[in-house]
Parts: sequence; C-alpha cells; structure tokens
Amino acid sequence: MKIGLIDVDSHNFPNIPLMKISAYHKKRGDTVEWYSPLLGGHYDIVYMTKVFSFTPDYEYFVNSDVVIKGGSGYAIEIVNGREIYRKEKDPQLPQEIEHIYPDYSLYPKLTKDTAFGFLTRGCPRRCGFCHVAAKEGAKSYKVAELSEFWIGQKNICLCDPNLLACPDWHELLQQLIDSKALVNINQGIDIRIMTAEKAEMFKKLRVSTVHFAWDRYEDKKIIIPKFKEFKEITGWKARKTSVYVLTNFNTTIEQDLERIYTL
Ligand code: SF4
Repeated sequence: MKIGLIDVDSHNFPNIPLMKISAYHKKRGDTVEWYSPLLGGHYDIVYMTKVFSFTPDYEYFVNSDVVIKGGSGYAIEIVNGREIYRKEKDPQLPQEIEHIYPDYSLYPKLTKDTAFGFLTRGCPRRCGFCHVAAKEGAKSYKVAELSEFWIGQKNICLCDPNLLACPDWHELLQQLIDSKALVNINQGIDIRIMTAEKAEMFKKLRVSTVHFAWDRYEDKKIIIPKFKEFKEITGWKARKTSVYVLTNFNTTIEQDLERIYTL
C-alpha cells in the first residue's frame, strides 16, 4: 500500500502519532512518505494530524482512497464561547501502533540524538483551560516503559501532562535517571504535589532546566513553600528552574507579574 502523511500544523515539533503510524506501515512493507499533491499521485491511505484548534486545516484536495484525520486540533470546538473536546473526532491509535518504536527518520533534524514520547497520560486536576482530563482521563497513569521510544539517544523529550501524579512516578523517574540521558520534561511540572522524596529523585536526573507550572494564582500558599523546599533539596539555582505562568485567563497583570518575580 502507498501511505501519505500530512503534519498539518506541528512543523517545529515532531508529531509522535505520525512517527508511530509510519513505523507500523513500514513494518508491514508499505511505502510511507510525506503526502505530495503534485508528485505523489494516488495514495491508498493518507493520515492527517492537527494539534491546535486555532491553526488552519489542510485546504486542498487529498488524492487518496481513505483519509484519516486525528489530533486535538480536529476535536476541539467552541460551543457557547467555551472550548469543548469531542472525543469522537480524535481517533486513538490501536495498541499495536501506540506501542511501536517511532519512526524518527520522518523528522531527522528535530529528532537528532533525541527520543520523544509519553510515559504517562491523563491528569486528575481538570483545570478549566486544559483538555487533558477530557482527552486522556482524569487520572495520571503509566502508558509506556522508557525503552518503548528510547534506545540510547543522548536526549529525551517527555511530553507527559502530569508525571508526578502517576502512582508509578518513582519507577518512571528511576528509568529516566538510569538512562543517563539529558531529560527535558516539556510540560509544566505540578509543583503542588512535589514531595521531599520526589525532589531527591529529581536531583539525580540529568536536566538543563526543569519547567514548573504556576497556573492558579490562588495556589500561592501551597506553591511558594514547595518551591523553597525543592530548591533546598536539589540545590538548583534559578538558571536551572523556570516556571510557566498562565495569563489572560482569570488573573490580573499584577498577579501575573507577582508570580513571575516571586520565583
Ligand atoms: S495540571 Fe496541567 S495537565 Fe493537569 S489539567 Fe491542569 S493544566 Fe492540564
């Protein structure tokens, strides 16, 4: 079969589902390539993925027997001024594809020496501005061993929404420590559930920077002591820690600046 792939809107970040779909079809002996409307001719299946709801869709005719669309970008709709995640519009990968080693050759520059993936999915927080709970479930759960998507690359980029909320956090952090790779957890770490034991584990991780999240201003009384404790345990200075601050949701500019300059 001839398979075409369209990465509609995530050009600066490798699309993990497309890399897995590619690996699956190549393993079956199919031809896989980026969809080419001018030179590609006819395809048997074209997969299209879209991450963001606010980016334009692919606007041209797709020359294929079957077109399969997936990703949050196709599933988030505005209803009465609110964003709603429509699960039925975001087909999930079958297990045999979900757990395959990704085809990193799709993005040779972006994945040079770097493995990408998720060890956990889901989050119990249900923040009003976030679709993780609706999309993946309102609890954090292990979905993979590190070895599913990492085979010795120097760097690991993790996209987990809330790794520390997973009951298997200790085992998963240990896998990352044992890898000795430089780890980038690219989502904001939930500092509210940081403990001394978790901070001790973090101290053993090879990281350039860890990103924490301080989205809700009202969590100030929990968050500031947690940051202090984390810094005391790890000894990490400001250049090794950063904080994502949610703005333009339910806070004032003063509260935004306070969160930025407090830490
Ligand atoms: S803690 Fe993070 S991942 Fe969880 S619901 Fe809130 S924003 Fe989403």
